[in-house]
Amino acid sequence: MSIFSKIIAGDIPAWKIYETEKVLSFLDVSPVCKGHTLVIPKKEIKDIFELGSVEYESLMEGIKKTAEILKEKLSADGMNIFSSSGETAGQTVMHLHFHLLPRFKGDGLKTNIHENPVKDIDLGELHKQLID
Ligand code: AMP
Repeated sequence: MSIFSKIIAGDIPAWKIYETEKVLSFLDVSPVCKGHTLVIPKKEIKDIFELGSVEYESLMEGIKKTAEILKEKLSADGMNIFSSSGETAGQTVMHLHFHLLPRFKGDGLKTNIHENPVKDIDLGELHKQLID
């Protein structure tokens, strides 16, 4: 059972923000910014590759609703939303989750993926590989 399933089962406490029959949102225990929140499907789905269409819909709804709550209650100026699938991508809890990071003007949080561009990728070749 994942640590998040233990939260759902009530075996571990969590600071819950939003909950439906299929989705739960709660504060990340090691926040990287004010309001750092996780949104998870209650069904123990490992990663994005195991996500089915029913859970996808409810999860997206939960992400949207949670983002709205955070934006409104914290008067956030923006929101970063990201998720890691697989150890190589940095996933540490093997229960699909989306990080919601409320952003505030001048907060200095480093989330800009464009800071380290790669220049040696042949986009034409890559495109061919992807559509073949
Ligand atoms: P990731 O590294 O993307 O898999 O994210 C896992 C996240 O889960 C981390 O940001 C942890 O701080 C968070 N986390 C782990 N255990 C708990 C917990 N019991 N309650 C809340 N957040 C947790």
